[in-house]
Amino acid sequence: MTVQAPLIDRFARAITYLRLSVTDRCDLRCTYCMPERMTFLPRAEVLTLEELHKIALAFIARGVRKIRLTGGEPLVRRDMLQLVQALGRQLGDGLDELTLTTNGTHLAQFADDLAAAGVRRVNVSLDTLDRATFASLTRRDQLPQVLEGIAAAKAAGLKVKLNTVALKGLNEAEIPELVAWAHSQGHSVTLIEVMPLGEVDGDRFDHYLPLDAVRRDLESRWTLVPNADRSGGPARYLDVAETGGRLGFITPLTGNFCEGCNRVRLTATGQLFMCLGGEAQVDLRAAVRSDDPQAALDAAFARAMGEKPERHNFVIDRAGAAPALARHMSTTGG
Ligand code: SAM
Ligand code: SF4
Repeated sequence: MTVQAPLIDRFARAITYLRLSVTDRCDLRCTYCMPERMTFLPRAEVLTLEELHKIALAFIARGVRKIRLTGGEPLVRRDMLQLVQALGRQLGDGLDELTLTTNGTHLAQFADDLAAAGVRRVNVSLDTLDRATFASLTRRDQLPQVLEGIAAAKAAGLKVKLNTVALKGLNEAEIPELVAWAHSQGHSVTLIEVMPLGEVDGDRFDHYLPLDAVRRDLESRWTLVPNADRSGGPARYLDVAETGGRLGFITPLTGNFCEGCNRVRLTATGQLFMCLGGEAQVDLRAAVRSDDPQAALDAAFARAMGEKPERHNFVIDRAGAAPALARHMSTTGG
């Protein structure tokens, strides 16, 4: 595919990475992510497979080289595999990488097909190895399925990166054990600070755990060697000398990481968010459903580049405070 004018924002950042949410629905209910009685987007408003594909191709034509499918839980969307297969055909033809973020509950069923479609890496969210803690954190007793999914991904030849949200008093004490287990399985781990996105049933502040404290704890056990690899993303990486594995830290609250941002996010209803931490959005569904989708998408992309903010500004410093943004992480995807 020949790349037309690349997408460049006002701060001269090239947008080469699209996170595409294929559904906001999920089979788990992680307490920090959504309430038990979550209000999902009306199905009629969700983009069709063809629309998602068309928009993704338009991004690739404008220089996007990496697409991460996410959600909600991407593997609960029925036609998800078809989208993966369709986008997989762009690998080597405009697209360098196609990947997804999943909670792992359906991964055992899909791992081989994902690998066959050209997916090489998956991010799996796993906050605990303890079944009871998992059941209370996600409100669903599904740890065995997730572990089975992770094992199936490995067996299918997919590289697995685990994402772990660090939660005070919940999985805090278990983090070293979780990291050691992941490394023993050949998986890297990225720790994430909980972000104030969307109303949940409890108060996130109760479990907010700044990662500098976690890092100090890990440093007292292990030799952590900084690694220069940035993978173009917000994570900072360290190698653990004792385990031989890699450990990432994503610190939206304690360390701003916006200067090299190369990404935008599309919701399942076609709203393009230029920043996870901002309200600015551009409607690509109207564009893709218009009489001249190509021209309308290009016009929408131009608006989006003009509106991408320089940085986000999360704060999670007050108990009982409303979330910084009304939107849940499951709307824009992780
Ligand atoms: N359902 C999939 C999963 O859990 O991997 C993909 C979507 S989920 C929204 C993506 C990531 O966002 C997960 O790793 C999850 O732990 C994280 N996440 C959800 N809500 C969050 C929040 N409020 N703060 C920080 N991370 C959050
Ligand atoms: Fe679902 Fe992922 Fe949110 Fe958990 S973090 S409720 S798995 S979307």
